[in-house]
Amino acid sequence: MTSSLDVDLSRDKLHIGGAWVAPASTETIAVENPATEELLGHVPAGTAEDVDRAVAAARAAFDGWAGTTMAERGAVLDRLHTALAARSGEIARTVGLELGTPLKIAKAVQAGLPLTVLRGYADTATRPVREETVGNSLIVHEPVGVVGAITPWNYPLHQVVAKVAAALAAGCPVVLKPSELTPLVAYLLLDAADEAGVPPGVLNLVTGTGAVVGAAIAGHPDVDMVSFTGSTATGRAISHAAADRIARVALELGGKSANVILDDADLTKAVKVGVGSAFLNSGQTCTAWTRMLVHQSRYAEAVELAASVAAGYRAGDPFDETTRLGPLVSAAQRDRVIGFINRADARMVAGGPDIPVPGRGYFVPATVFADVDPDSELAQEEIFGPVLAIIPFTDDDHAVRIANNSRYGLAGAVWSGDDERALAVARRLRTGAVDVNGGAFNPLAPFGGYKQSGIGRELGAYGLAEFQQTKAIQR
Ligand code: NAD
Repeated sequence: MTSSLDVDLSRDKLHIGGAWVAPASTETIAVENPATEELLGHVPAGTAEDVDRAVAAARAAFDGWAGTTMAERGAVLDRLHTALAARSGEIARTVGLELGTPLKIAKAVQAGLPLTVLRGYADTATRPVREETVGNSLIVHEPVGVVGAITPWNYPLHQVVAKVAAALAAGCPVVLKPSELTPLVAYLLLDAADEAGVPPGVLNLVTGTGAVVGAAIAGHPDVDMVSFTGSTATGRAISHAAADRIARVALELGGKSANVILDDADLTKAVKVGVGSAFLNSGQTCTAWTRMLVHQSRYAEAVELAASVAAGYRAGDPFDETTRLGPLVSAAQRDRVIGFINRADARMVAGGPDIPVPGRGYFVPATVFADVDPDSELAQEEIFGPVLAIIPFTDDDHAVRIANNSRYGLAGAVWSGDDERALAVARRLRTGAVDVNGGAFNPLAPFGGYKQSGIGRELGAYGLAEFQQTKAIQR
């Protein structure tokens, strides 16, 4: 296991108004390596006073930044991309240490994806402003104002960049609060922003807890919009806080997505890709296909295949290039996931106490349950760990009913030998995204949820529009 005892990744400043500044309080938050349970360092526990300072700096920057052209903002994002790309190895290593993502995936996803998204916004921002004429009205789009961005730990740089790059491209200054479990990688973004010459106050960083810094941002009278990614429960609290002043919210929340495998599907591919989705990032992925729905004629075969694929996901050292399953982010998260497994009333076909996991660290073996009741806790709750639930169905209508039997609606998949049939089922799923026959993730396509999976869309042009107001000028 890669030891972190020889590293101290502590940072003792916040980034406000274009400079590294001392926090108002001397309190700190410890950051742990979940694969070894060793301390990686400390970051400041920010306070409401720090949030006030950061919001004031963002407000002071607003007129200047909003007054730049899309092309000028695009040039800044382009420089930010260059500075961040130079740190991609450090980003992958930092996320590997603070989250435990296996290095191979950390390089491709935790470091690679945010760079792709930032590249896209550097380009989007250079496009001319979208204006149109409707009758005697000129319709223009303007920045919404000061944005508070509150992000979770599972894709700690991607979720930050999805908000920051779009908001900056739209002309909005940002006050960022990353997750207190994985705050270190956000410091690399601010280092890159300094190097890229992002103007003072346009991007501010206040680390701290959700209860203190997050709540102060969500309830701040001078924050015009709160863009949040995280749990549905916290999204609800943020909505309540923002409602008092009618501030805009964008919420990217949880999921319990269905992978629908029809009777004529390429079963091997559908099951392999499906298991991979469920176990990516140790199952700590909001879009994970955690319910595998299989036609009854292929069901027994699919269960056997899923169990054998899951057995290939051995938990181990994230810094070993062959590791596919890292730890969960924290002891609390590990215990929560084990609770779901222990309470499950279904047939366990992979995982369980006999599967070895490293002695230290918050590991849970890759676990598969078959014959899961679609109304049970296992099929309804977002577990956020490496746990897959397999459910049989009788026909396409039945599959759609089970898939839509969820209070979430974030992602999903359909597999069929007939593309048109798969597309017809995809259209009936009440969810923000569906991959047909393994269609690749598209970082320029709108991303977001139906139902309790959220409000609004991130990524691409739709993600930029979230940070804009629309004005009609009559002539
Ligand atoms: P969380 O809701 O506990 O925390 C997310 C962020 O909100 C953190 O920065 C936290 O400090 C902050 N926060 C907590 N309480 C707050 C409060 N009262 N006011 C303001 N901010 C507060 O979520 P998490 O445990 O970090 O992340 C896991 C959850 O996030 C899962 O449910 C997952 O599905 C969801 N998620 C969704 C998406 C998506 O795009 N839809 C992406 C990743 C994660």
